Amino acid sequence: MSANIIDGKAYAEGLRARIADAVRALSGQDVTPGLAVVIVGEDPASQLYVKNKARQTVEVGMRSFEHKLPASTSEAELLDLVARLNADPAVDGILVQLPLPRQIDAQKVIEAIDPAKDVDGFHPINAGRLLTGVPGLVSCTPLGCLLLIQSVRRDLAGLDAVVVGRSNIVGKPMAQLLLAQSCTVTVAHSRTKDLEQVCRRADILVAAVGRPEMVRGDWVKPGATVIDVGINRVPNPAAGEGKTKVVGDVAYQEASQVAAAITPVPGGVGPMTIACLLHNTLEAACLRRGLPFPAL
Ligand code: NDP
Repeated sequence: MSANIIDGKAYAEGLRARIADAVRALSGQDVTPGLAVVIVGEDPASQLYVKNKARQTVEVGMRSFEHKLPASTSEAELLDLVARLNADPAVDGILVQLPLPRQIDAQKVIEAIDPAKDVDGFHPINAGRLLTGVPGLVSCTPLGCLLLIQSVRRDLAGLDAVVVGRSNIVGKPMAQLLLAQSCTVTVAHSRTKDLEQVCRRADILVAAVGRPEMVRGDWVKPGATVIDVGINRVPNPAAGEGKTKVVGDVAYQEASQVAAAITPVPGGVGPMTIACLLHNTLEAACLRRGLPFPAL
């Protein structure tokens, strides 16, 4: 059997088009959602990510506010900027790009963001809302994963879901989203015993580990839906000396022989993260003004 490849790039494109339509409709009410992205330091991967976010924000008709701060920025200076963005009526969403330089406590910064503008969904208030089943802003990557799962499986109730990884930004919110869909959820991590066996019982298997191709084909239950969140850069000698390529946490060639549906890396979960950030910015803009959030 060869798996159905879940095309995250195409799904994200469609989602962005629907967001652009909704933004156009809002402009009739004199509302233009605005997203502020703050980056501290020169990390090239973060710089590229922020540039892509800004471009896609403008492409869907929203306003993009970029704040580039030097690596020497103090925690107090960053907290001061967050306070100004919280108070700025033109700003609906605030994203502080992680990781932050060592002198800044990232958790303190996350907690300083107004939960109504917390489009990353990292604030404890939004994490708590997800935990208690109250509507709130949901972390972008897990939200994107759920949309991709639902694109191939409509009713998730009663399915066994295994999430490998328990980070606050991916694993834990992913598990909560699947629980909210009435899956029977297992969260695995570095201390899990017999991880292979745990994975083998998953109808839905989400890998968010950061270990290249750790999940092998024979860990996958025949017919499972496999979502690979991992982004790992590894050497690619076949392409030439010093060349690298990006692979996921799942051994794609093997797993795609067993799974019913699988996300590729790249082109699976990755493109969904920014699309979901725009989704959350639109949602925040609507909620802050008491406007209905359109179904996307
Ligand atoms: P973290 O490093 O924060 O968490 C990794 C998790 O994997 C931890 O819970 C850890 O367990 C677990 N883990 C590590 N080694 C093993 C192992 N051998 N067996 C089982 N579990 C293990 O990573 P993130 O959640 O931030 O990211 C995970 C991956 O997803 C990374 O590759 C990252 O680049 C990618 N990512 C992709 C995004 C996208 O847009 N597509 C967005 C965010 C992340 P423990 O808690 O016990 O240490």
